[in-house]
Amino acid sequence: MTDQQGLFEFADLPEWEQAAAEDVLVAEVVFNLPLEKPYTYSIPDEFRELLKTGMRVKAPLGRGNRRVIGYCVKVRRAESAVRRLKPVEEVLDNEPLLDEVMLRLTHWISERYLCGWGQVLESVIPAGVRRKSGTRLVQSFVLSETADELVAAAKLPARQQAVVDVLRMATEAVAAIRLCELADCGPGPINSLRKKGIISAIRVRSEVSGELMGVSDPTEDLILNDQQQQTLNAIIAALQSGEHSTMLLHGATGSGKTEVYIRAIREVVSYGRQAIVLVPEISLTPQTIRRFRSRFKSLAVLHSHMTDAERHWQWQQIARGAVEVIVGARSAVFAPAPNLGLIVIDEEHEPTFKQDSTPRYHAREVARYRCSQEKVPLLLGSATPTLESWLRATRRQDTLLSMPDRVANLPLPPVVIVDTRNDPQISKGASIGRALRTSIDRALHDRGQVILFLNLRGYSPTVWCRSCGTGVKCPDCDITLTWHRDRQEAVCHSCDHSIPAPEKCPTCESAAVRYFGTGTQKLEEEVASAFPKATVLRMDSDSMRKPGSHDIALEKFRHGEVDILLGTQMIAKGLDFPNVTLVGVIDADSMLNQPDMRAAERTFQLVAQVAGRTGRSARGGRVLVQTTSPDDPSITYASKHDYLGFAAYELHQRKDTGAPPFMAVTRVIFRGLSEPQVCDTAHAIADKLRATAKQMDPEARILGAAPAPITRLRGYYRFHLQITAPSHEQVKLLWQRVENKLTLPDGVEMAVDVDPINSR
Ligand code: ADP
Ligand code: ZN
Ligand code: ZN
Repeated sequence: MTDQQGLFEFADLPEWEQAAAEDVLVAEVVFNLPLEKPYTYSIPDEFRELLKTGMRVKAPLGRGNRRVIGYCVKVRRAESAVRRLKPVEEVLDNEPLLDEVMLRLTHWISERYLCGWGQVLESVIPAGVRRKSGTRLVQSFVLSETADELVAAAKLPARQQAVVDVLRMATEAVAAIRLCELADCGPGPINSLRKKGIISAIRVRSEVSGELMGVSDPTEDLILNDQQQQTLNAIIAALQSGEHSTMLLHGATGSGKTEVYIRAIREVVSYGRQAIVLVPEISLTPQTIRRFRSRFKSLAVLHSHMTDAERHWQWQQIARGAVEVIVGARSAVFAPAPNLGLIVIDEEHEPTFKQDSTPRYHAREVARYRCSQEKVPLLLGSATPTLESWLRATRRQDTLLSMPDRVANLPLPPVVIVDTRNDPQISKGASIGRALRTSIDRALHDRGQVILFLNLRGYSPTVWCRSCGTGVKCPDCDITLTWHRDRQEAVCHSCDHSIPAPEKCPTCESAAVRYFGTGTQKLEEEVASAFPKATVLRMDSDSMRKPGSHDIALEKFRHGEVDILLGTQMIAKGLDFPNVTLVGVIDADSMLNQPDMRAAERTFQLVAQVAGRTGRSARGGRVLVQTTSPDDPSITYASKHDYLGFAAYELHQRKDTGAPPFMAVTRVIFRGLSEPQVCDTAHAIADKLRATAKQMDPEARILGAAPAPITRLRGYYRFHLQITAPSHEQVKLLWQRVENKLTLPDGVEMAVDVDPINSR
């Protein structure tokens, strides 16, 4: 059909339908629901000018026409003569909350992670930004339309004339206080002018201002060594290419990765662009933050202790391009930098980069997509990369950059594996075996500092009845309680439910309740009594509840006020203390024996990372790893600092078992208060998936349904199933085919976890 014909046909339509097709605007709206497709609403005339893509609206939803807040993701002309659409009822924003880039990114997440677009938007936009926290309506003034005539007709007193002059010069409404300042007057003249109708009052939204972080304790650039310089050159070449690429910086602990990030970002800033740096957890990385603060003019640190108003203000500053560097945890990947130049993900192997609730995205994959859209590089850094990232790099899908050596030619510390199976101390119930004890003594004697790592908090991880042999479990979860001696309570580490010391076994009422195993609190006691002269500091989520407490604790350690630092995962990350001459891993097996596909990878990462905390000065350092599995490859490779060996070994295993990164996995979790109902639902869906897979994809495998490893959590019974296929696309097609026809019974909830990294 030619244009002319088209026009002709169009002109043939009755007049009212022409108007409809040309002029009628509709809005596509998504809600905080697990739905894929947007709903279409008509836009009443009153909102025609106002409503833009990226604003929130209120619109009727469902049979009851409940008015629900949703996000307008598109404003477009009606495709044909309009059907009977429900209208948008209210527009909630004056300006869009989201630009095109963010809309595309969030839409991608909903498709990649199989959840609703609206769910993603709800999670990505900070509540403070949605509520415009910290802004208030301020009385402001403009000249009225008839001002010129009125002023010409009357001779105004000098003060009033001054006010009029100020407003004539102004390009926008002037706030009352500011007007008094500029015209050097009080409220009198302003009120008089208002009564005469020369000026009119309007209310303007104005923000509570905050302060951006500027440089603190500025420090000079270090002179890069050859290895760092070569890496930096490669990154700069990528920055200058104007293309997207992902680079994996595999650098030993202490190889100076942070310095390379800083210099790469310096380059980005010199182009007038912004960089985002993702770190595993803000409160755990005060040292890294401080290093960035000492080097950049404007830095935004997005941490969880901000008020809504502060967050909103910061978000706006970032959106205006006023911030050079944005440092934050996972969600900082959504920072609205207008001219993004680079995203860095430090310690990319950390599981905190995956969100544990809907939308269950992985920040690395979101960053990869965002960077590809904005045609800028993504830089991942780790001494122990995930096998996902490693496989991509070895296949040259991503670029591998290596820094195998520590700065200043410091060697990696020697690691001794201590077999604790026949240790006399440990058989007697101690946690510190003979060899480790001797090493601690020696380190303290030489005025070195010691780090002891144990991944269980609390006092004793098992509350056990000797009579009937059952563990005392949380009434709401299928988890044995952990005894916290300081609180005199047995605590559930999943839901935080706590009960007073159980005097009798809840199963057989015997009084033979005992506490087994060692948590950080018990270790602290043992250390204090074994080394009475040493100062001991415990760092775990119980002792570090207050904001800023990590920073304070680590400063004490840095200044030598503490001899022995003991704690959980918290102390395995990024610490750089030259005086640490001994690291002890109390029990490497506790990580190894988890029912998790990644148990070996996690064990390797933790041992290698904890080991990396020592030997950071000429004083040297050593590492002792206590284990009952001294021959396990994840422990032996970690003791040799042999990431390449471990990766080759573990990839081989994963390939053999058809596991990620060779296969794409999606886990579906069902929960409900009635066990049979949840069980039946999960099994029915698994059967349906199997039948559908048979027809459409013989490569797909369905595992389960089966009870989840934690079969009961917060009172809910839990079942799960797993879909495995060679590609995400295959898993998705299969799942969507079944999901489309799915109606869950009331009382059963479902969560879809694409690329799950925990199997609880
Ligand atoms: P990584 O992040 O790779 O573990 P860091 O960036 O923490 O390593 O660097 C380890 C230590 O080496 C830090 O104290 C840092 O200040 C120092 N450092 C880094 N690069 C250099 C350099 N080129 N010259 C001297 N010291 C350096
Ligand atoms: Zn009992
Ligand atoms: Zn519980």
